[in-house]
Amino acid sequence: MNSIQDIWNGIMEILSGRLTSTSINTWFSDCTPIELKDGTLVLHTTTPFKRDILKQRFEPEIKAALQEMFSCEFELLILAGDELDDYQAEAKEEHALPEMDGYTFDNFIVGKSNEYAYAAAQGVVKNPGSKVYNPLFIYGNSGLGKTHLLCAIGTAIHENTPDAKIAYVKGEEFTNKMVRSIKEGTADEFRQKYRGVDLFLVDDIQFIAGKEATQEEFFHTFNSIYEAGHQIVITSDRPPIDMLRLDDRLRTRFEGGLMADVQPPDVETRMAIIRNKAGHLGMQLSDDIVSYIAQKITSNVRQIEGVINRLTAFRELTGDVVTREKVDDAVKVVIRDGVYVPTPDVILEETARFYQVSAEDIKGISRQKNIVTARHITAYLIRNLTNQTLPMIGTFLNRDHATVLASIRKIEGQIKSDKDLSATIRDITSNINSRQ
Ligand code: ADP
Ligand code: MG
Repeated sequence: MNSIQDIWNGIMEILSGRLTSTSINTWFSDCTPIELKDGTLVLHTTTPFKRDILKQRFEPEIKAALQEMFSCEFELLILAGDELDDYQAEAKEEHALPEMDGYTFDNFIVGKSNEYAYAAAQGVVKNPGSKVYNPLFIYGNSGLGKTHLLCAIGTAIHENTPDAKIAYVKGEEFTNKMVRSIKEGTADEFRQKYRGVDLFLVDDIQFIAGKEATQEEFFHTFNSIYEAGHQIVITSDRPPIDMLRLDDRLRTRFEGGLMADVQPPDVETRMAIIRNKAGHLGMQLSDDIVSYIAQKITSNVRQIEGVINRLTAFRELTGDVVTREKVDDAVKVVIRDGVYVPTPDVILEETARFYQVSAEDIKGISRQKNIVTARHITAYLIRNLTNQTLPMIGTFLNRDHATVLASIRKIEGQIKSDKDLSATIRDITSNINSRQ
């Protein structure tokens, strides 16, 4: 038994022997398990009223069921409605503390493709806040070690100066938190939180491009940290010049420090990475297999890791030696024909995120302008990035295939003359590809 859903099913099975089915239907039908962590079971339900009833009436039963299943005591935390968002945002923040990711300079393999970025990152650690490296802007495609370097900087600075205030935030999370703080009237706290840090690590800044209010806030945050002589490190999937909808003031700031790119590793570096990752998992691979993997996967370290993980699992399950055929199997799962094909869901999510609407809005009936545009773009991108047919796209978006076709035509027509639209589509496509 491992997944939280399995555990929850186990609990419900026990409870169904003890409670009436009316109780179960009324109080548990919209109760979902979130996680079991640090001795606490976290549940979510829709309303505060249900939360209170669950807590008052059923807490002892739920705890008893857990006791039966695991022979130890658990706490219970029940969240209602959007309390879950706060809970998850906090958990993410906790998790996001750089020292927790285990990304260090020691386990980063250096080669020609990343030595400049690596040296710059170490420069920051030696001399944080120095004008030469402030900000340090690391850019490059997905899976090439940007987040790893960013976290390594955080880990090292934390070790050198445990009192340093370090904030790690993803571009997208910055946006979400800012929007939420405005809604909740806590914008001031939000500002203070980031403006007072010694080291500001911003991962995947590309997500804020094109979002005006976020860029404005980010600009002020950036300035106050910079003017206090504190260090800023930013990663992005592309250089500032290619972030077409980036505010010019931010572009100037980003370009005013040091920019370092990470490229796909060359074959020797790939082989070193493969040996290193396999070694960490207690697996020694023959030279032939190492170089075979290095030939097969050329442009993304995350994919290399995916293959090694699969091979480790295979070896543990069967005890057999890893052959080239096994490598082929593992590679096939990680990359299909060398091209990443996103799912319609990923395309939908990324388009929705870009327009700050929900996926349901796009699939729904609203005629609000930005939702309609997002809907057209989703259809267009699914058509262009996957091999889905018009009827399939129609089913996915709750439309008939003629409507889908009209959406696609509309975008195809506009994209030629509308620079902003083509920049938007490029940004969304890039965000989609960075999810591979
Ligand atoms: P990015 O942020 O550029 O998309 P990540 O930093 O998340 O990429 O790297 C993807 C995975 O590959 C991570 O698990 C990371 O540890 C690993 N990785 C990337 N580059 C290297 C490297 N040079 N040496 C060791 N591991 C690496
Ligand atoms: Mg990253």
